[in-house]
Amino acid sequence: MTTVRTRIAPSPTGDPHVGTAYIALFNLCFARQHQGQFILRIEDTDQVRSTRESEEQILRALKWVGLQWDEGPDVGGPHAPYRQSERSEIYRRHAQELVETGHAFHCFCSAERLDRLRAEQTAAKQTPGYDGHCIDIPADEAQRRLQAGESSVIRMQVPREGICIVPDLLRGDVEIPWEQVDMQVLMKADGLPTYHLANVVDDHLMEITHVIRGEEWISSAPKHVLLYKYFGWQQPVFCHMPLLRNPDKSKLSKRKNPTSITYYERMGFLPEALLNYLGRMGWSMPDEREKFTLAEMIANFDIKRVSLGGPTFDVEKLSWLNSVWLRELSVPELVQAFQRWISPELLGKVAAQIQPRIQVLSDAVGWAAFFFSGAVPVTAESFQHKKLATDDVRRILQISLWELEALRRWNHEEISTLLGRISEALGFKLRDFMFPFFVAISGTASSTPVMEAMNILGPDITRARLRQALAVLGGVSASLTPLRVLPRIRASLAGTAGGPSQVWGYSSAGRALQWHCRGRRFDPA
Ligand code: GLU
Repeated sequence: MTTVRTRIAPSPTGDPHVGTAYIALFNLCFARQHQGQFILRIEDTDQVRSTRESEEQILRALKWVGLQWDEGPDVGGPHAPYRQSERSEIYRRHAQELVETGHAFHCFCSAERLDRLRAEQTAAKQTPGYDGHCIDIPADEAQRRLQAGESSVIRMQVPREGICIVPDLLRGDVEIPWEQVDMQVLMKADGLPTYHLANVVDDHLMEITHVIRGEEWISSAPKHVLLYKYFGWQQPVFCHMPLLRNPDKSKLSKRKNPTSITYYERMGFLPEALLNYLGRMGWSMPDEREKFTLAEMIANFDIKRVSLGGPTFDVEKLSWLNSVWLRELSVPELVQAFQRWISPELLGKVAAQIQPRIQVLSDAVGWAAFFFSGAVPVTAESFQHKKLATDDVRRILQISLWELEALRRWNHEEISTLLGRISEALGFKLRDFMFPFFVAISGTASSTPVMEAMNILGPDITRARLRQALAVLGGVSASLTPLRVLPRIRASLAGTAGGPSQVWGYSSAGRALQWHCRGRRFDPA
């Protein structure tokens, strides 16, 4: 009998997401229940968005919640390397094989041609997709063009008619018409694979038997089914788990809820309670008890008990469950929990901040409290300032919140550059502009340097406090709306460093007065 092998395959492009821990947990339980193995693989083929920093944080956060893998980039294993960026040669060989067997082809289409095609298809209300322009280029001609140095990608052949059937452990046979499936690029012009090729090749080579992942990947499954067929490999069992949702049923997103595991760690949730809560997402113990440990979940696990209705990730329910866990600890265990929570690392950062301000150690309590507390007590009055009207304060906080949401790297330099630019674009003196941040983040107009505090608190706690400040101030300023990126602005931002950012407009009586993107200002007209 083959050994069950499951995996979690995070892309290191951001904060460690609770959704990653949720999927990892179900993969782990499934493997353990079958005396199988659970693997962690890093999918960092997107070289622009992937960072080592994010990879480290993801591994750290998954370990913090109490998940352990048998093979992975940190522990090694028989199928190393477990980081896709170190496996390029493997993908190159496999893509080549598909070209040779006629299942994939070189595509020389320029970005301009593809843009035009997309625009035409959109205008004609068709699903945008590749039109097969390069499919029939004879092999010798393709070779000649490649040797002449012409840039190309490798695309997979996809049937144009019929229906693909994706057997799913929870959903039965999912039917997707082939006409909805694009002729996916497998190898990019830079010689690196796309997710689809690398994912299938690795799942096969790493002998993964069950692919348990979020339902957002169902639409990609036909491409994967086809790749298994082209290579002549047996496909794994697919199981698409329901997505976590906000209480309003929209897809869980950091705009509405903190989604980073680090946030829950910093807020003082117990890792056992968070894992317990994630285990209740779409699943329940046979006796419906709410509190259970990982070992109990494994002992009672049955993937067929997963219900497909979107599970709601509700911070209030999680807090309640955490309180149950806390109350059931012995006092020495609670003390240990406090000691783990106030980690030497965090204490070190905070101590360095308050050192210049204290005369005796007991002064630390006042200066450092906001680093440890959840929310800070603020009211609309806290934000009164002689040079800033309430609407200015709301505008400053909201625009900064939008821009901070799009910030890729969270460190002092990035934060200070971004806020400096916004302050300038809005025409405030930096000193005045920073006032609402002091209040929102620390609860007072004078604290330790606030940008460093934001850096130490991390993106999720920072955003939660800015959101809370906006709420006490009566919500988003009515004169402010996020706007669609104007083509003109998009063009002038092409090649600018930094990630895509929300473009926002400040309008008055429906007329846009200013447009801003990535801290730069563009006038309308
Ligand atoms: N790298 C993908 C992700 O970030 C993995 C999807 C899959 O499990 O196939 O979720």
